Amino acid sequence: MEIKFEETKTLKEKPDVSKIGFGTHFTDYMFEMDYNPTDGWHDPRIVPYRDISVSPANTTLHYGQAIFDGLKAYKHGDKPVIFRASTHLQRVNVSAKILDIPEVPFDVMLAGLKKLIYIERDWIPTGKGQSLYIRPFIFATDPYLGVKVAQTYKFMIILSPVAAYYAHGFSPVKIMVESEYVRAVRGGLGAAKTPANYAASLHAGLVAHDKGYDQVLWLDGVERKYIEEVGSMNILFKIGGKIVSPSPQLQTSILDGITRRTVNEIAESWGLPVESRKISIDEVIKAHEDGTLEEVFGSGTAAVISPVGVLEYKGKEYVINGGKTGEFAQKMYDYIEGIHMGEVEDKFGYIEVAE
Ligand SMILES: *Cc1c(COP(=O)(O)O)cnc(C)c1O
Repeated sequence: MEIKFEETKTLKEKPDVSKIGFGTHFTDYMFEMDYNPTDGWHDPRIVPYRDISVSPANTTLHYGQAIFDGLKAYKHGDKPVIFRASTHLQRVNVSAKILDIPEVPFDVMLAGLKKLIYIERDWIPTGKGQSLYIRPFIFATDPYLGVKVAQTYKFMIILSPVAAYYAHGFSPVKIMVESEYVRAVRGGLGAAKTPANYAASLHAGLVAHDKGYDQVLWLDGVERKYIEEVGSMNILFKIGGKIVSPSPQLQTSILDGITRRTVNEIAESWGLPVESRKISIDEVIKAHEDGTLEEVFGSGTAAVISPVGVLEYKGKEYVINGGKTGEFAQKMYDYIEGIHMGEVEDKFGYIEVAE
């Protein structure tokens, strides 16, 4: 499938990335492609970044049939590169399946992404910790108020230069273990990267903020016993020298995060025992009490690694590693960042060149 290109008349002025935070500025171009039952996915094109118009009856606005993903591009010298592009785009189709969105031809997605990144390579910031954030997403476009699986969709990729997440070094977050609200349940949408899961998490996040916590750690929605994830990050524990994290395969209400997989793959290569399994909040509290809970940290594309300094559960605060960033979390962050920046050898083949 040929990817068309429509040139923009005016190029934007590039912002000072160190001052813009996350997701506020967008590049000159975006990728677009449409689906209907007769043509399938068709008309892949790179066009100037611009507003789109949708029907007020657009089915996504009413019933939320949509998915997204998030990944990052960096520069190795003059070469624009993408971290685990193929793995992320495969996950687009995992999410699509859960939401009954027609599968997107992988090769077209990858070619479109690489071409877009290549065209926009001058937008990739090169400061430490900075990157070009990539947001692929799909939404239903039927102008129809009836409730059913839509017939038409739009796939888009937009790009946003982002500042270093930790401009002033790591500062461990305070997390509240949520025992009232639930994000996703077994048999629901938890394994998809879909807006509905975020809608379901906003209120609990607000309540936690009001109580002085940065984020919420979700427990399973059925027994309120097993640890799930943070909602935009997976969670990992270092207990007695082992790296333990909830298994998205066993707990189908968790997003199968690619950063968690990266951490586990690297940890294994360092010779650490890695366990993906069910882990109850009681096990974590017990490990804290007997002194074997060494570190807790979140993993996700945006922050990469987010050390947890405090866990709150049922009114009690548990301080992790003296509230400081753990040695393992720091070493892992530096190693992954090194691969991002091209300073650490890419032994795992995570880096894909956009050309
Ligand atoms: C995106 C996301 C994560 C982190 O996944 P990565 O692939 O590591 O970026 C974790 N949980 C949820 C709910 C997410 O949407």
